[in-house]
Amino acid sequence: MATNYKTVLLFGAPGAGKGTQGKVLGNIPGFYHCACGDVFRSIDITSDLGRVFYEYSSRGELVPDDVTVKMWAESIYARTILSDYKPDKDLLILDGIPRTVEQAKLMYDHIEVLKVIHLICRDQEAMFERLRRRALKESRFDDADEKVIRHRWEVYERETQPVLESYPADRVVEIESIDSPALVLSKILQVVVPIQNQHFAAFE
Ligand code: ADP
Repeated sequence: MATNYKTVLLFGAPGAGKGTQGKVLGNIPGFYHCACGDVFRSIDITSDLGRVFYEYSSRGELVPDDVTVKMWAESIYARTILSDYKPDKDLLILDGIPRTVEQAKLMYDHIEVLKVIHLICRDQEAMFERLRRRALKESRFDDADEKVIRHRWEVYERETQPVLESYPADRVVEIESIDSPALVLSKILQVVVPIQNQHFAAFE
């Protein structure tokens, strides 16, 4: 089923701050945040899909593309039925998907990507430190092990970075994410508020 949700992608390496920023944005009326990792983590770990997720994520690997996009599409559709996400009123802020070129292709019929916000952090060690802290705070098994953290980075560089090239260069905005969350947020708002106004003012 084709849907064409109006979307802004939050893009960046593990630890770049996509989740932190996405959660804040999602609390503002007119924006709806959906993090693919959160959708996976909400699945019962003893179900078939839950086991697949655990198997891949505990090794720092990506869940296969077809399974991921199907699960994501079903989840977001369910939220529209529940009127949690209202596609005619809310700008969708997607975080953590698409994470491969193939996922971007599979999602082509589902989302209209209006902008890609690329959170960059030139200090790799600072990002690792964020992930270590998150592991302690949120008991995330995929961040607890140094080897897994580093592997997730390699997977990001190999599989996810090329996704950026599948969008026209003028659709991608780079924002430095080592700054304070409030400063990063203000820069993101400068990008997304005009988009929100342009596409949804008609529904006020
Ligand atoms: P982070 O925010 O640290 O990048 P996420 O919470 O987004 O991590 O994802 C945790 C794990 O869930 C990933 O390491 C991967 O195994 C799985 N996952 C999340 N999103 C995707 C996706 N789009 N494609 C494949 N696997 C995914």
